[in-house]
Amino acid sequence: MARVGFIGLGNMGGHMARNLLKAGHEVIGFDLSASALEAFVAAGGKPARSGVEAAQGAEFLVTMLPAGQHVRDTYLTQSGLAAATAPGAILIDSSTIDVATAREVAAAMPRPMLDAPVSGGTMGAENGTLAFMVGGPKDAFDKAQPIFQAMGKTIVHCGGPGNGQVVKACNNMMLAVTMIGTCEAFIMAENLGVSAQTLFDVTSKATAQSWAITSYCPVPGPVPTSPANRGYTPGFAAALMHKDLGLAQQAAADANMQASMGAQALAFYQRFVAEGGGGKDFSGIIEMLRKG
Ligand code: NAD
Repeated sequence: MARVGFIGLGNMGGHMARNLLKAGHEVIGFDLSASALEAFVAAGGKPARSGVEAAQGAEFLVTMLPAGQHVRDTYLTQSGLAAATAPGAILIDSSTIDVATAREVAAAMPRPMLDAPVSGGTMGAENGTLAFMVGGPKDAFDKAQPIFQAMGKTIVHCGGPGNGQVVKACNNMMLAVTMIGTCEAFIMAENLGVSAQTLFDVTSKATAQSWAITSYCPVPGPVPTSPANRGYTPGFAAALMHKDLGLAQQAAADANMQASMGAQALAFYQRFVAEGGGGKDFSGIIEMLRKG
């Protein structure tokens, strides 16, 4: 079993650290929030008074922070953080951040670093079923398997540094575009006298089939577990989708291309968040689209 430093014990990180503890690892955690740290200690974790203290002697250091700025501050500004880890240690950043920052931070580290953003939300974090998209050296990826397996089910090596963030941006951009198209189709069918159930019965089996229809159907009824059946409580909050679409646009700029459907999706989620929808599930955007 390994000694793991864990920085960022919030909605996702708190569950992930608990799963590492359940798997028998020694976990030393740090969070700026006293309540997050208290919950971690109650689950059997050892508290640290700083990020550097959490990193001290760790064989693996995991970070799960809100955005690129926090990752930059943690790894580049806190002097000696990475060097405090044990020789041969692996750094794993699971935050969802921009590709350029992921690559810049990894290149500046004295230890191998993996960018390993996740999909699966807080439920996946709690149940240990997250999907990890991992960029960075393959030998570090192989060595970190026990750590990923304690927190997730699907673990894919996507190539060199930053590639995990590239795949995450691509996935969520595709998901947002698909969801908006799905919402528009359900509204159109409804307005022209076709029931949601009928449209679902056909499209869940036809060429338009997608996760947005079969798992996250944006109208109540056809998929009883979808957020539409509980007033669009998340799930995956629209504010997070909005953030990820911004990252996807940054990635498109880095790729010297225009992802115009992604840009349109970003504009839609920007409006939804501005109108107060940020805390709702991202499929709740159907309510805004109904208004036109
Ligand atoms: P969160 O805000 O609940 O947790 C982040 C934690 O980091 C907070 O507890 C905060 O106090 C702590 N923190 C911030 N700066 C710190 C610092 N310098 N040192 C120590 N602790 C610090 O966020 P979350 O929902 O857990 O999301 C974390 C990351 O995971 C984000 O990048 C998010 O985009 C991504 N993500 C979230 C979800 C989701 O459903 N919540 C799903 C997939 C990916």
